[in-house]
Amino acid sequence: MLGRMQSRSTASALPSLAAAAVVLLVVIANGWWWWSQEASIAPMDLVARLTVLRQDRAGAEPEDVVAEVEKRAWEKLPPAVEVPADRLSGRSLPPTPLPEERVAQVGQGDTLDHALDRLFIHGEAKRKVIEAYRTLHDPRLIRPGQRLFAQFSAASPMDADGLLSLVIAPESRGEGVSVVRVVGENGGAQFRARPGGLPGHMHRQVLRCSITGGLELSLERCGHGRGLSLLVAALLSLRMDLRSDLKMGDQVRVVFDELVAADQRIRYERVVGLHYTGKKVNLIGASWEDAKGRVAFFSPSGAALEPMFVRDLVYGARLTSVFGMRMHPILRKLKPHLGIDLAAPTGTPIRAASAGVLVARQHAGAAGKLVRIRHSAGFSSEYFHMSRFARGLYPGNKVRRGQIIGYVGTTGRSTAPHLHFGVRKGGVHVDPLTAFDTPGKSVPARDLAEFKASVAPILALLDRIVVVAKERGLD
Ligand SMILES: [Zn+2]
Repeated sequence: MLGRMQSRSTASALPSLAAAAVVLLVVIANGWWWWSQEASIAPMDLVARLTVLRQDRAGAEPEDVVAEVEKRAWEKLPPAVEVPADRLSGRSLPPTPLPEERVAQVGQGDTLDHALDRLFIHGEAKRKVIEAYRTLHDPRLIRPGQRLFAQFSAASPMDADGLLSLVIAPESRGEGVSVVRVVGENGGAQFRARPGGLPGHMHRQVLRCSITGGLELSLERCGHGRGLSLLVAALLSLRMDLRSDLKMGDQVRVVFDELVAADQRIRYERVVGLHYTGKKVNLIGASWEDAKGRVAFFSPSGAALEPMFVRDLVYGARLTSVFGMRMHPILRKLKPHLGIDLAAPTGTPIRAASAGVLVARQHAGAAGKLVRIRHSAGFSSEYFHMSRFARGLYPGNKVRRGQIIGYVGTTGRSTAPHLHFGVRKGGVHVDPLTAFDTPGKSVPARDLAEFKASVAPILALLDRIVVVAKERGLD
């Protein structure tokens, strides 16, 4: 009885052993496949492609986000996400069969004409598309890095006559131009241009990149275009001098959103998280939108990344005189100099140092043409010797931070074109170079909890980029 049972159980064990062997083989094969997939992706590429996280998951738990990063880390292309971008024009796609979509990128030295060739748009259709585009923009101003997104009817996808629409996207900001097919008077195809209509879905992406030269060159080596370096540079330059503070081997990690269509990037949308680890500067920040819809970058504790004052008041200017006692160049007397002098050619735009209200715009003797702006926290700023004022700007007007308020000149008591820039706190002149270190407005205490919850997934992604890279032996 016992023997029979044993032999029966041995017999029944055979098929299950065979099944186990099959399972084992599958597991090994899968493992090899995974490994070979990993090996076939260049290291930077892999990190760059920790693609992921739908826009609608921005509020998801960090753990979910990380799981999703891991899950898709090996995928060559991001899967299509069925979440329309908020910029998607109201127009829905035609019913099935779906149109064929193709994307082309404008290369160095490329013309719109050449880029259209690569989309198989030629002849009469190409001429009409360029004509339509010209009604809104100069086709000669197309820049390398811009993307063209074309939709063709499913019936004739390789035929220029099948072109339904073409969207020409800007590199980062701006709304783009759609050229759409309309039926002409004689029934023939015509094209009409209108602003907007960017296609696609928003993807959140992460990137880690080592500085191996300038910022643009480094990001390019990490597989990214100028559109992204512009966005990253705008943030980094809030706290560092990009000409001297970038050092070889520094590392930048970025969490950014991109607009994707037909499995390709249409453009970089925005940077939402940034971590810079450098020899001279360390920086970490995430973007947050307050209840009034203002978006700014903050440290994890809620301190503003943006200082209160813009440093680049006059692009390319040279500091020729500092705050304090000096021998006056015209009066030949020892006199306090109540600001700094920034030398630049006549006509160079002057930017408002911070947001505020314009309180003076006049021609006042020694100061020449001057502007005064009142800011928050008891600060005000003044700008002397202008050649002319910005058009349409008068006392009582609100001024944005960085807005052009006038142009460099040499009016009043001045020997050469320059901007004299002064800052007062509570009515008393202070050293502008010191004032430049004043931090901007941090997250208000009442919003701190909401802020922390909202930036947590972004900070988790920034941390996770390094962990994943280490696990994959890329660090
Ligand atoms: Zn001066």
